[in-house]
Amino acid sequence: MTKACYSDPKKFHTSKAGRHRAKLQLSAHPTCLWCEQEGHTVQATVAHHIEPFGDSWFLFMTIPLISLCVPHHNRTAQQHERGRQPQEIDADGYVVSKQNPGGAVRKKKTGT
Ligand SMILES: [Zn+2]
Repeated sequence: MTKACYSDPKKFHTSKAGRHRAKLQLSAHPTCLWCEQEGHTVQATVAHHIEPFGDSWFLFMTIPLISLCVPHHNRTAQQHERGRQPQEIDADGYVVSKQNPGGAVRKKKTGT
């Protein structure tokens, strides 16, 4: 039997082995996979598990990782935690920005 050193899932990511694995992933794939799929090259800083590992140390260490940038990783994390879309999306698929109060709305008139 192996020692149950890592029985607390909250400590998985900060464990030496967990950090080492993330480091290996990021050095093997230094750019964000999802940005690549969108046609950009962005440096990845997060190693993200492609499937939930629950509280299993074994799964944590065996489920494949992908490299993501912080914005992409935050998006998945927020969706997982809240179980809903983290941002308001308008009918056109754009994020509704609340950082531009009174800013000019530059929408072309496309007729009514
Ligand atoms: Zn990205």
